[in-house]
Amino acid sequence: MALNRQMVFQVTMPALLVALAMFGISLLGIRSINHLQADRDKIVSEHAFRLQKVQDLETYMRHIRLHSFLYVMSMTPERWAKVERDQTNFETTLGQLRDTTTDDGERRAIEAIETGYLEYRRELQDSTRSPPGPDRAAYLKWSDTHPIRHVVVPCDELLGLNRQAMKDTADESAREGDRTSTGMILLGVLGAGGGLIGGFGVAWGLSRSITRLNVQLQDVHAHLNHEVASLRLTAEGGNLQTMERQLGTILTRVREVVGQLQRQECETLRAEQLAAVGQLAASIAHEVRNPLTSINLLVGAALTGRYPNGLTETDLRVIHDEVGRVERKVQALLDFARPPEGEHHAEDVAGIVHRVVGLVQERLRQQAVRLSLELPTEPVTAELDRDQFQGVLVNLIFNALDAMPGGGRLDVRLAREGAGNLRLSVADSGPGIDTTVADRLFTPFTSTKTTGTGLGLSVSHRVVRAHGGDLTAANRDGGGACFTITLPAACGDPSRADVACGG
Ligand code: ADP
Repeated sequence: MALNRQMVFQVTMPALLVALAMFGISLLGIRSINHLQADRDKIVSEHAFRLQKVQDLETYMRHIRLHSFLYVMSMTPERWAKVERDQTNFETTLGQLRDTTTDDGERRAIEAIETGYLEYRRELQDSTRSPPGPDRAAYLKWSDTHPIRHVVVPCDELLGLNRQAMKDTADESAREGDRTSTGMILLGVLGAGGGLIGGFGVAWGLSRSITRLNVQLQDVHAHLNHEVASLRLTAEGGNLQTMERQLGTILTRVREVVGQLQRQECETLRAEQLAAVGQLAASIAHEVRNPLTSINLLVGAALTGRYPNGLTETDLRVIHDEVGRVERKVQALLDFARPPEGEHHAEDVAGIVHRVVGLVQERLRQQAVRLSLELPTEPVTAELDRDQFQGVLVNLIFNALDAMPGGGRLDVRLAREGAGNLRLSVADSGPGIDTTVADRLFTPFTSTKTTGTGLGLSVSHRVVRAHGGDLTAANRDGGGACFTITLPAACGDPSRADVACGG
């Protein structure tokens, strides 16, 4: 089963978010570790530098002791030069230490060294003015109380302070390392936990979706089982493979059922058509038998000599009318089976309406139906086969009159519509279109009348369509039915002024 893109997105998104969060945290961790490391390195290198300087200071101090001792023993300029070099080195180093220290303890020790150093200089000057000697014991005594002793103690103190600072830095570094390790372990644990929670969330979400899907599947299953008893599905679902199998079964069964329904529909349609043909045959037989009976009676009577003068003009007119009725019925059937091609000419529709209204005038009067005619004063032209169109209009008006046996009102309106169309409506105040036939009015053999053929509207519909127009039916709000013909106006008709006219 191919996962669609949305599903992949839903499944991978939480895991991706967790991974991104962990990646971000790791980056931050690495950055802060690098920062800490750089700070620590700086501090360590500063301490190492200062420790080195303090050790240098101690070394210069020893050199001073040695060289000053030698100078006191024999005061030559060379020996004094060495003492002076040692002193310069000592002072420079002490100056560097003073300039770089930020620690109060160290500052105090440096101040003590400076004081001691001044003391040393003063005492050394005194000793050069009255040097010890000449015996060995006097030198040894001077050596034991060498002026540099004023610097030794604060120098040792400074060395101790620096060693301690170095040790503190090393300890702090070790603690920092421990903290970093703990942080990294925590990060690892968090990552694993986050991954687990994310995975669990995804699994939970998927499982919920599957459960919902399964419930719907079982619902469809129950529905189909109810509607189509032969469908068998296992009740338990819950995993994708089972659901896929069940869906496959449902699909196959639905296809079978749809096929079955289509076949049944075809059979029903065929049965309906056969019934309609039977109805049509009965209707034709009924319509044809009545006139034939009248003709048969009249002609039979004439043949038996009952009428010595033969058939009267009235009898012949009756025969003629009855033959006409039969002919019209047969013609209606033929029209339905094969509507005539027709010859289309630009005709004045209002003129045709006038003519048809004139034809039905007598029936209107007999049925006490009031006619309301609304026609444009100027000609309204359309490309028509006049006879066919007249037939359509007669059929619509006769249907309206059939619907108003006890009288009523017939509204015939012709008007121009936008987009180069004409609109002709025939509306009555009868009971309206029966709901049982409303959706198949234009289907052949649809009729609610006992003697109806059910062909009039379907033929009319075909004729109007053949004229490039449309015929629609609707019930009116205030009661009664309304049939509307829309037709394209002929080229040259004023309503086509804005519309292009082909050919
Ligand atoms: P027929 O008139 O032979 O029944 P039609 O095709 O002309 O055949 O009409 C089909 C059916 O449409 C009618 O039987 C009738 O039920 C319905 N019908 C047509 N015109 C009207 C109307 N003006 N009012 C109500 N029903 C109508």
